Amino acid sequence: MPGRVLIVDPLPTNRIVMRAKMNAAYFDTELAASGAEALAQLSNPGAALVLITADLPDTTALALCQRIRALRTAGTLPVVMIGRNWDTARRMDALQAGADAVLDHPVSDTLLMAQIRCLLRTREGLDELRLREGSSRALGLAEPPQSFQHPARVAVIPDDVPAAARLAKTLDARLPHAVAVAEGAALVRGGDAAYPPPDLAVVLLNGRGDDTALQLIAGLRAQPETRAMAILALASGDDQAIMAEALERGANDVTRRDVAQPELDLRLARLIGAKQRADRLRDTVHDGLRAAVTDALTGLYNRRYALPQLAQMAQEARNSGQELAVMIADLDHFKSVNDSHGHAVGDAVLQQVAHRLRTALRPGDMLARIGGEEFLIAAPGHDRRSAKGTAEALRKAVAQAPLHVADCAHPLRQTISVGLAMSGETSPARAPAALLAQADRALYDAKTGGRNAVTLAKQTAA
Ligand code: GH3
Ligand code: MG
Ligand code: MG
Repeated sequence: MPGRVLIVDPLPTNRIVMRAKMNAAYFDTELAASGAEALAQLSNPGAALVLITADLPDTTALALCQRIRALRTAGTLPVVMIGRNWDTARRMDALQAGADAVLDHPVSDTLLMAQIRCLLRTREGLDELRLREGSSRALGLAEPPQSFQHPARVAVIPDDVPAAARLAKTLDARLPHAVAVAEGAALVRGGDAAYPPPDLAVVLLNGRGDDTALQLIAGLRAQPETRAMAILALASGDDQAIMAEALERGANDVTRRDVAQPELDLRLARLIGAKQRADRLRDTVHDGLRAAVTDALTGLYNRRYALPQLAQMAQEARNSGQELAVMIADLDHFKSVNDSHGHAVGDAVLQQVAHRLRTALRPGDMLARIGGEEFLIAAPGHDRRSAKGTAEALRKAVAQAPLHVADCAHPLRQTISVGLAMSGETSPARAPAALLAQADRALYDAKTGGRNAVTLAKQTAA
């Protein structure tokens, strides 16, 4: 995992020792001896994480953390702080100042490295999502994310049931979230009771030697259904080896089970907040991808999706020795609908025609709006006769009954003309562009022949 760690410590020996440890764990390093030096280094991109190990001559560790959070260039950089003799209040100050992890001195190298790897992994995943969200947003395809926070569902996964039940009960009473005990194995296996999966799993770790909880964390992280879940591991004592292992297996945060209540609440709130932000990002990316291939008016596929899909379907037809029927359907005299009733009525007509076409097709047929009042249909597995039957069915579906459009006093009669081309069974099959051109010529013939008609393209070699 690439990533340069910026080590901030006032003492040269500490910096050098820490650098050697980081290098041994395959991290590159940068060093800073003061707050000013650290901020100067962060004005250039390069650092992947900041490790602040003590107060500095020109600033406190806490104030530096706050300054880093406010930087535009480094606002989301993970910050790890190591506190010496810190009590709950100071640890909470550090978390509230924006530290992603606060470790108590002395911290084992294993736990420190596990913590750093965990934060880098999380950040990498988020960066990837943000990048994709950014591209959909740049294309104008995504809605801005909401900032509303839903009450979350939290599962406490027991090593011993009475203790977990007590914890779940107090958390449920104290927090605005629904907290309940859940059986870990059922969550991983996706048992009925486990769905939808909770936002956060609090996994109680046993002492050394017990691998069940660790396996469970790895299992939750590996399953597609539970992969996005936030996981907080609570160790029964100050066992840094098991804490490190929990992070390496996929926990997002780990602390002692007897941590003070306000700190536990704060950690839970941060994990839930981060999980919900990531969920929203993922939704935005997903919506953006869907919007990129969808026509906003009719909900059908758009031209951008349809043309490569047509090429793909033609290729599949050729591979399987079947014929692909390609049709272009165009509304007849549609301009007069707009002229007589206005554009809004015209839009409603397009929506209703799109719906009728979709309903008349099979699920595997592709239907797309490829122009203002022009639709493309690709239907595999047809011969000329059955293809013509489908085209006729589409024509009838539109013509058979008038459309009732809100804002229009009387029902509207609308018809379509359809040009149909067959991909041809024999090799070389017609290329998609040639198929489209043929369907288009056939459509023209249907129009000149009087409209409200289906015309099959003449069989010519492409
Ligand atoms: P033809 O039977 O020869 O196809 O005649 P037509 O009037 O349907 O064809 P023409 O190409 O002359 O006009 C198409 C009209 O479709 C013009 C345009 O105003 C309308 N149109 C295209 N896209 C939209 C749209 O998104 N909404 C609405 N309301 N009208 C549209
Ligand atoms: Mg047209
Ligand atoms: Mg038309």
